[in-house]
Amino acid sequence: MDRWGERTRLVHAGAARSPFGETSEALFLTSGFVYERAEVAEARFADRAPGYTYSRLANPTVRMFEERMAALEGSEEATATASGMAAVFAVLMASLKAGDRVVAGRLLFGSTDYILRELLPRFGIRVTLVDPADPEAWRRALDRPAQLVFFETPTNPTLELVDIEAVSRIAKEAGALVVVDNVLATPILQRPAELGADVVVYSATKHIDGQGRCLGGVILSSAAFRKDVLVPFLKHTGPALSPFNAWVLLKGLETLALRVRAQSESALEIARHLAGHPRIEAVRYPGLADHPQHALAERQMRAAGPILAFRVGGGRARAFAVLNRLRLIRISNNLGDVKSLATHPASTTHARLPQEERERLGIAEDLIRLSVGLEETEDLIADLEEALEA
Ligand SMILES: *Cc1c(COP(=O)(O)O)cnc(C)c1O
Repeated sequence: MDRWGERTRLVHAGAARSPFGETSEALFLTSGFVYERAEVAEARFADRAPGYTYSRLANPTVRMFEERMAALEGSEEATATASGMAAVFAVLMASLKAGDRVVAGRLLFGSTDYILRELLPRFGIRVTLVDPADPEAWRRALDRPAQLVFFETPTNPTLELVDIEAVSRIAKEAGALVVVDNVLATPILQRPAELGADVVVYSATKHIDGQGRCLGGVILSSAAFRKDVLVPFLKHTGPALSPFNAWVLLKGLETLALRVRAQSESALEIARHLAGHPRIEAVRYPGLADHPQHALAERQMRAAGPILAFRVGGGRARAFAVLNRLRLIRISNNLGDVKSLATHPASTTHARLPQEERERLGIAEDLIRLSVGLEETEDLIADLEEALEA
């Protein structure tokens, strides 16, 4: 696959045809496998012969999805999980032990925030949270040894960026494994591994499926990390991706580049439109020249992505009024769909955080996050225009 370009890999990489010669990837909806002879089962269990044994460990359709993801990212290996959170949790639990220290960006997906703030400390793992956009804050936190560094960029929902190359360098000096949640940027627009990250995780539920159908997750890593760290943890704890979901995700990957580029172009147009709007207080989008980290976005992203956020003024009441007047764009906590979705983070995805912490993170009461879909841009702008009259 090395000689083929991105869109070719998205359509063909990892496809393994059965003896029937099917055009589409086959769906191996089977939990187990049978053996011609007892000796074959013995050899597979002893890792002396290749082949499948049980779909908690590996499945041909899931393997096709993993190989396509690895080929897309140019990564040695990809390991699929049942959801994005299963991917995040597996990487953390499989690599850490009591006494270890994690340094993470303070703006995180809600459930990742829960694992870092609530769950890991119960097992004697210390967690330091830093302002993700400030390289000095990372440097200060990493002047002592740490075993793992975790961040998202752009952050959800405030669209701040982490300088992947700079933070990876500082983290390596502190001896830490660098793990990046690349969901918002997508594998099309940003490649953290090329900038120094060791492990990249995705919720495949978002742009990889992209059509709002199923949950999935995937971890990109070296072959050694998969074999020595991930596989022993995953095979005995069981957050396996369903073969059916892997098949849906394979279909999603075929159109990923087309969708993400079109959605990202549309997001930029909408961000520009809203930036000059008299009824908008502020727009957060790394693709706008007035974003404080616009130069960094140009350096580490191929485009600024399908997600933006804006403040409508007037607190929660006005944010709700605007959301309730939308007719085409739907209210949802999800993102990464071909259908445009609007979220009020302060009352949904980030409601668990205390108000002071939300204020500190810039998750204002009047902030709306918009995940731009594949509809006509002018229809989305018209819908927003009517809603802003509220
Ligand atoms: C959705 C999401 C997750 C979790 O993924 P699930 O598939 O819902 O478990 C993790 N990180 C980010 C940034 C997300 O948007």
